[in-house]
Amino acid sequence: MQLIKSNRRGAVALALAVLMGAAAALAAVSPAQAATARNGICESGEFCLYYNSNNQGSVSDFDGSITNYGPSQPTCYEYRGSGNGKGQCVKNNAASAWNRTGRYVTVFYNSGYKGPIDNFSPGAKANLRSYLKNDNAGHRIGASGNAGDNLEYRLYHSSSARVTSYFDGYVNTSGRHEGIDIKRGVGYNVYSLLSGTVTNVREGSRGSGGLSTLAIYNSSLNRTIVYLHLNPLNGIDAGDHISSGQRIGLEDWRGISSSGASHTHFEMRPGRQTHAAKSVGDYTLSNPTPTNFWIARGYNPCCRFS
Ligand SMILES: [Zn+2]
Repeated sequence: MQLIKSNRRGAVALALAVLMGAAAALAAVSPAQAATARNGICESGEFCLYYNSNNQGSVSDFDGSITNYGPSQPTCYEYRGSGNGKGQCVKNNAASAWNRTGRYVTVFYNSGYKGPIDNFSPGAKANLRSYLKNDNAGHRIGASGNAGDNLEYRLYHSSSARVTSYFDGYVNTSGRHEGIDIKRGVGYNVYSLLSGTVTNVREGSRGSGGLSTLAIYNSSLNRTIVYLHLNPLNGIDAGDHISSGQRIGLEDWRGISSSGASHTHFEMRPGRQTHAAKSVGDYTLSNPTPTNFWIARGYNPCCRFS
């Protein structure tokens, strides 16, 4: 059991978090369940964060989603249970969690439901992943507790796929990530997340210089979902209608430097688009945070890390 706390977040990230904390609403989204939230007891129906690893120390219990825990007292969400950390802010200060909501819960590094993520299956009781530990800004309770509703499942029709980088979730790449990366392996089927009309298909070649793009515009939502790096199915052309759940290609590494890094990148863009936004080396986000969009479509952001 680790009782020593450390905060590894850098000064730039902290300044950003403070700025965003000032602007973000401290909103509880999901309806209250039978449990009494904020009473320092982790009850059925709640998502709970702990000050120490292995679900030790003071607990902070929530019955809804929080975009930003808040950076400082007296306005931050704080630990309320007895034990180490009681009265301290939860933000950038949590080591473990217990998910008693019955739904998937995603923990975010950045406020506004973006950045690197950790995820807790219904019933999961675990430490935060290393880069979320003491670097947690908010959490989002998913659309359901059904693993079949997770984005990675719906993209691959398999529970073997994993989110490798969430929106704005670059850890070792320069720039800000405009989409979500999901990996299963080269050659696995990829399926459309929404229906729409193909606005662009470009079959690239393997390696960093050969980016593949498949853009599908949904006119009723006025959004384009752009898929990158895949091997698009032969016969898919601009103007074709694609149904939700229709097979659209195979995972590949077209526009990626090595086969071991293969994945499918997809991004949600407002309006009718033909190309992805620039991510690598570009420090301005063009796309909006997609988390609430996908939850509103019945998808959980992610997956099962724990
Ligand atoms: Zn990507």
